[in-house]
Amino acid sequence: MSINGPRLRPDLESLPSYKAGQRPQPRSDITTYKISSNESHHAPLESVQAAIIAAAAEINRYPDPFSSDLVAAIAHHFGVPAEHIALGTGSVALCGQIIQSAAGPGDNILYAWRSFESYPIWTGIAGAQSVQVPLQADETHDLDAMLRAITPKTRVIFICSPNNPTGQIVDPIELEDFIAKVPSEIVIVLDEAYIEYVPKEKRSDSIRLYRENSNIVVLRTFSKAYGLAGLRVGFTISQEPITNALNKTAMPFGVSSLAQAAAIASINAESELFERVASVVVERDRVARELEAIGYQLNPSYANFIWLRLGTSTPVLHQALEQAGLSVRPFPGEGLRISIGETEANDRFIAVARQVASESDVLR
Ligand SMILES: *Cc1c(COP(=O)(O)O)cnc(C)c1O
Repeated sequence: MSINGPRLRPDLESLPSYKAGQRPQPRSDITTYKISSNESHHAPLESVQAAIIAAAAEINRYPDPFSSDLVAAIAHHFGVPAEHIALGTGSVALCGQIIQSAAGPGDNILYAWRSFESYPIWTGIAGAQSVQVPLQADETHDLDAMLRAITPKTRVIFICSPNNPTGQIVDPIELEDFIAKVPSEIVIVLDEAYIEYVPKEKRSDSIRLYRENSNIVVLRTFSKAYGLAGLRVGFTISQEPITNALNKTAMPFGVSSLAQAAAIASINAESELFERVASVVVERDRVARELEAIGYQLNPSYANFIWLRLGTSTPVLHQALEQAGLSVRPFPGEGLRISIGETEANDRFIAVARQVASESDVLR
């Protein structure tokens, strides 16, 4: 019998835990809004809800472990072979599978920082080391510095574009140049969770990049533009060696039958969903213009959120927004990420930002 309790990995102590966006407390005086997790604020489409309800009649059975219908729908949609698609319980799970497939103790995972907080967590779980290359002053990736940070230990590079939480994109020509310079044995993940919010002419042709390069993984999700965050389904597009490894490292039966059905229905309803995306983009640009008019300094955001780099003033605006019933995502000492939500939530955000600017030194 041990007096010390179970022996767990000591290095887990130093792992950061995922900080999920907070839910606001309901209040009697005002409607509160959750604009902390970059979700779609639109209710699920009726066609999607109907598909979920129909699938519910069979949840006594395990789901199709290969998600064959969904894989076929994605493959058809992108014009790629079904063998090049891997599914995961959210693209966040696929981030972990990619790292587990390519790296272990002693290996390096390279990415910009600040970026998606799952990267350091999965890196630590795999026992690998993070190499974080600071973003540039305009919040873009410093691709030259990332190239210089490559060593024989580098196994995976994450490129998050648009970047969470800062919203900037990587220039398509610079990305192509970067990929050409990275040794082809290193896996390059193009995390495109927010790609649907980017104007077409500013998007990298990631499908062509994966066709031309056996080390590219295109990572997409149904959680943001497709509005299925609660069902946990994401996918990758990559050539067979990587796709096969991702299928090996997947949790068996991970993607539920409800998620499979909803994702297929969402692909079929894409034009309706993309109208919603367009309305979010219009709102995002309106909010950004208003904030700039007040005096806030913003770099362009190409996603469904706004990033305010407020440094030590972060708590001032954060607390004011919380008091006004708006839950947003703070990054202490760095800034605030505010998801675009309902028009009333966005208007209230602007009003609070204006008030705080006039009453504090947040802009100085
Ligand atoms: C939201 C997000 C994801 C998607 O997560 P899911 O697990 O698919 O919900 C992936 N990458 C980034 C950068 C994100 O912000």
